[in-house]
Amino acid sequence: MLDEYAACFGEPSVPVPIDEIAVDLLGLRVHLVEDLPFSGALYPAERLVCLCASEARESEGRRRFTLAHEVGHWVLHHRRRPGAAGDVHVLHRDHTPGSRDPKEREANTFAAELLMPEGDVRRAFSDGLDVEVAAARFVVSPVAMHWRYFNLALVEDPPPQA
Ligand SMILES: [Zn+2]
Repeated sequence: MLDEYAACFGEPSVPVPIDEIAVDLLGLRVHLVEDLPFSGALYPAERLVCLCASEARESEGRRRFTLAHEVGHWVLHHRRRPGAAGDVHVLHRDHTPGSRDPKEREANTFAAELLMPEGDVRRAFSDGLDVEVAAARFVVSPVAMHWRYFNLALVEDPPPQA
């Protein structure tokens, strides 16, 4: 995805320009919706992503992760698949990386890898950035950053359960 972006717009840097990827590269529309009862949703037939406005105000990191998750559904499950079902994907507020639905897991993995590219994350870690500081650099939530460090075997323990 980042290579595709680089081919069109030049090499991206951290924080990864997820809004530009969604809108300019993929041609999706992104709307903030007040009182959305979930974090976000993808309406594939309309090429539309809706994000919860109050959650976006609370946390830019969560907004970016939710957008990247919905972008993941688009890229992995819809784009260039004319026969794909136009089902709406809804991301609920209580989502965790351990979701049982394989498509949800794929979209979460896609989002983590897109927003926190492995090479940049390894560099941040070797520069001595702890989870909080790295999260600020990548503009993701500290929990998402902690999971990424854990999944790259940079830290021994996963984030404590909320
Ligand atoms: Zn989803």
